[in-house]
Amino acid sequence: MPAGLLQFGPDFAVYADHSARRRPLADGEPHSRAAGGPGGRRAGRQAGRAAGHVGSRIAIRTGGWGVMSGARVLVAGASIAGPALAHWLLRRDAEVTVVERAPALRPGGQAVDARGVAKEVIRRMGLAAAVRAACTDTAGAYTVDVDGNVLETFRADDDGGDGYIAEIEILRGDLSQVLYDDTRDGVEYVFGDRIAELTQDADGVDVAFAGGDRRRFDLVVGADGLHSALRAMVFGPRERFVRHLGLVLAFYTVPNEFGLDRWLLDYQAAGRSAGLRPVRDATRAIAMLSFPATDFDVDHRDIEAQKRLLREQMAGFGWLTSRILDHLDDTPDFYLDQVAQVVMDRWSSGRVGLLGDAAFSPSPMSGQGTGLALVGAYLLAGELAASGWDPEAGFAAYERRMRSFVEANQEIGRLHVHSLGVAGPDAEAGPEPDMEALTGLVERAINGVELPDYAGVPDSTAPVEGGGGNGVPG
Ligand SMILES: Cc1cc2nc3c(=O)[nH]c(=O)nc-3n(C[C@H](O)[C@H](O)[C@H](O)COP(=O)(O)OP(=O)(O)OC[C@H]3O[C@@H](n4cnc5c(N)ncnc54)[C@H](O)[C@@H]3O)c2cc1C
Repeated sequence: MPAGLLQFGPDFAVYADHSARRRPLADGEPHSRAAGGPGGRRAGRQAGRAAGHVGSRIAIRTGGWGVMSGARVLVAGASIAGPALAHWLLRRDAEVTVVERAPALRPGGQAVDARGVAKEVIRRMGLAAAVRAACTDTAGAYTVDVDGNVLETFRADDDGGDGYIAEIEILRGDLSQVLYDDTRDGVEYVFGDRIAELTQDADGVDVAFAGGDRRRFDLVVGADGLHSALRAMVFGPRERFVRHLGLVLAFYTVPNEFGLDRWLLDYQAAGRSAGLRPVRDATRAIAMLSFPATDFDVDHRDIEAQKRLLREQMAGFGWLTSRILDHLDDTPDFYLDQVAQVVMDRWSSGRVGLLGDAAFSPSPMSGQGTGLALVGAYLLAGELAASGWDPEAGFAAYERRMRSFVEANQEIGRLHVHSLGVAGPDAEAGPEPDMEALTGLVERAINGVELPDYAGVPDSTAPVEGGGGNGVPG
C-alpha cells in the first residue's frame, strides 16, 4: 500500500504528506502568492479568456472516473514540466492552478538542453524566438588536462546541433522564466505553498494546502521534481522509485575571473570532474563539479551541509578547482544533487498523474531531463483533452506514447555514468559502453517519439518563428 495512503475504497482515497507535517512550511520558509491572492490571478485569467486561451470549467460527469469538458487542473511544481504543462492545458481550454513550494520562481541550475523532438515542441509552443533569445550562446567545449592543455574539442553545431553541447542550450532558470512569462496571465500561480493532503473520489480531488486553503480539482499533476512529495504521498516512498547512479553533481555561479569566452572547459580524472561554463553575461560563469558517491544522505534542502560535502570531496582535485571552491560562500545560487533516475511502473493513480523528473527523471547525465519534461507536457495535455478529460483513458494514452521514449533516454544517462567508470549502488552492472553504440542510441532516443497533431489545436499550423529547419530560428 502506498505510504501516506490513509483510506482506500473503490471510489475514495485520502493521501497526506506526513513528511511535510514533521517539517511544516512555517520553519523559515516565506509564504507568498502571485498577485491575485488565493483566488489567484483572476484578472489574468480573464485576460486569458478574452484571448481565447481559457475555457470555463463545465463539468458534465458521466460516472466512473467521469468525463467532462474543460477541467480544473492543479499542477505541483513551477520549474520546467509544470509551466510547460500549464501552457498546453490552457490551449486545451482547462483552468489551471500551479502551486510551487518555493517563495518565487527558482533561479539557478546550469544549462539544460533541448534536442531532437523537444525542439519541435518548443516550436509548437510558439516559444522558439524567446528560447533562442535566452540561449547560452556557447560556441563549444574543450576537455582539458590538469594543466589546462586542450585534449578534445566539441562544437555546438556538431551532430546537427544535437551533440555534446546542444544548439538549444539555455540556463534552467532562464527557461523556467520563459515558460512562466508565457503562462502567467492565464494561469493561477501560487508560490510558497504546497499540497498537504489530498482526497480523491469518482468525480474529483479535494486538496488541502499547507497554507490552509482547501479546494477541489478535477485532476492533479505532480511536476515537483526528483524528490516529488506528491509521488511519495500517492505512490509510495522515494526509495521505491529513485535509483542512485553513484555520482553527485553541483552547479553554482562564480565570477568569470578565468577568462572564459563562449567555450566551456571540462577537466575529468578518476571519476571526479570540474568545469566552467560561459553564460551570456560574460562577467559570470557557472562552476560544475562532480564526484562519485556510493550513498547520499544529505538533506536536499540543507545547502550548508551540501557545500561542506562538496569541499571535502573535491579537495586536492587540481586544475582550477580550489579557485572555484573559493566562491562557494559568495555564490548567489547553489544546486547539488545525486545523479538519479526515477523508475515507476505507472505514472498515474486515479485522478493524480506525474510528469517530468517526478515521474521519469533520466538524470542530468542523460542531458534529456528537460526534453522529456517538455515532450511529456505536450502529450499529457493532448491526451487528457483528447479523451474528454477522462483521467483513466488520458493518463494511459500519455503513458503508452511516452514510455519507450523515456526508457531510451534513461539508458543514455546510465551509459554516460558507466563511461566515467562510476558504478552506482542502484546501477545495473553492464559491459563497458561502446561509444559508437552510445552515439547511435542518442540519435534514436532524442527523436524516439511521435508528436500527434491533436484535433482542434493548431499545433502544426503554428507559425514557424524564424524558419530554421527544425523550427528553431538559426
Ligand atoms: C533549482 C534547480 C536547479 C537545477 N539545475 C539543474 C542543472 O543544473 N542541470 C540539470 O540537468 N538539471 C537541473 N535541474 C533539474 C532539471 O530542471 C530537470 O531535470 C528537468 O528540467 C525537468 O524539470 P521538472 O520541472 O520535472 O523538475 P524540477 O526542475 O526539479 O522542478 C521541480 C519543481 O517543483 C518544486 N517543488 C518541489 N517540491 C514541491 C512541492 N511539494 N510542492 C510544489 N512544488 C514543489 C521545486 O521547487 C521545483 O521548482 C534543476 C532543478 C532545479 C529545481
